[in-house]
Amino acid sequence: MKAELTEKFSALYGQEPKANYFTPGRVNLIGEHIDYNGGLVMPCAITLGTWLSIAPNDDQVIRFKSLNFPEEQEISLQDAYTKTGSEWYNYPLGVFNEILKKHKIPTGLDLLFYGNIPIGSGLSSSASIEVAMAYALNDFFDLGYEKIEIPLLAQKVENEFIGVNCGIMDQFAVAFGEEHKALMLNCDTLKHKSVDCNLGDYRLAIINTNKPRKLAESKYNERVAECQAALADLNKEIKLNNLCELNAEKFALHSQLITDETVLKRATHVIKENDRVHLAAKALNDGDLQEFGRLMYASHQSLKDLYEVTGKELDAVVEFCGDYEHVIGARMTGAGFGGCAIALLKKGQEEDFSKQLTDFYVSRIGYPASIYISEIGNGASAI
Ligand code: ADP
Ligand code: MG
Repeated sequence: MKAELTEKFSALYGQEPKANYFTPGRVNLIGEHIDYNGGLVMPCAITLGTWLSIAPNDDQVIRFKSLNFPEEQEISLQDAYTKTGSEWYNYPLGVFNEILKKHKIPTGLDLLFYGNIPIGSGLSSSASIEVAMAYALNDFFDLGYEKIEIPLLAQKVENEFIGVNCGIMDQFAVAFGEEHKALMLNCDTLKHKSVDCNLGDYRLAIINTNKPRKLAESKYNERVAECQAALADLNKEIKLNNLCELNAEKFALHSQLITDETVLKRATHVIKENDRVHLAAKALNDGDLQEFGRLMYASHQSLKDLYEVTGKELDAVVEFCGDYEHVIGARMTGAGFGGCAIALLKKGQEEDFSKQLTDFYVSRIGYPASIYISEIGNGASAI
């Protein structure tokens, strides 16, 4: 990939890149819809991601080009930038704007991006391009940011410059992912550790339902509100900052305080899903991938029945996986209502799996899903 990008860069800019970077996308292996309840998420970086090649120019301009989008931008070096329209280059431009609050960019730059992650499908190509830009500027100009500042800066760009109210998980995972490891992260406290996640004979299949995630934002906000209602009910008797301070056993002692049936279902998912993350970490520590797979299925079932965020497309994928002999675990990943599912697929079955799943999915849903095979990879780095 690096050689191809160098060639493209030279053809576009008439000079070779001086530095190259790769930043992955991410999936959340387990721990869904609990980040905003003080729970643990377990994301990992994947081997699909965003490449960035850069070289300085003498023209006092920043040139943004991407092999994924036709729009280009050339903008003079300034002290600050504002978002212009909704074009892709606002993501890296936002990173410049954030960095300019503390540092001067000493020269103009020619930039070329290329991503092989499906864009806009919940694998966090947005965090990937933001962290790629922040990591590259910090490295190239030796700006001296601490490691933890890079994902925080990228999140700030997405929240304030782009205007998407995401948490820290995505930027964190794409910055700090490690090969054969999952991250366990509390998005509230930023407490984290890595857990060995050797997939052995299995690979990570990522299935994009190709369903537009139209409902995702409004339903997401609705779920957040329902969790807050559950917390308020519980706080009539006990003092909690977050739902995930309770495990399932303790929750059972107080759950009668929640009178609304829907709110009770949501809270039950949250508490049990957080317990599942602990069980999943134990399964990985024990090298018990089968158990990890069972927990993935249980997570999906709960997101379907109790949290009601799956939809027929994601359910079709997970139903197929459950019947397919060479998959040991599958679940939706991300906010739901479309986007992607992940599955642990036996090595060597990739082609058969893709063919059979495609047939099944087309007959059930009416259009094909896209299937990607990935490993658990490393976070942002120079290449
Ligand atoms: P997701 O993060 O789930 O992939 P988002 O809608 O949050 O979806 O972010 C996708 C946006 O990020 C794209 O529309 C584009 O603006 C930007 N982006 C991501 N990858 C690239 C890339 N390789 N080149 C240019 N822009 C990109
Ligand atoms: Mg995104």
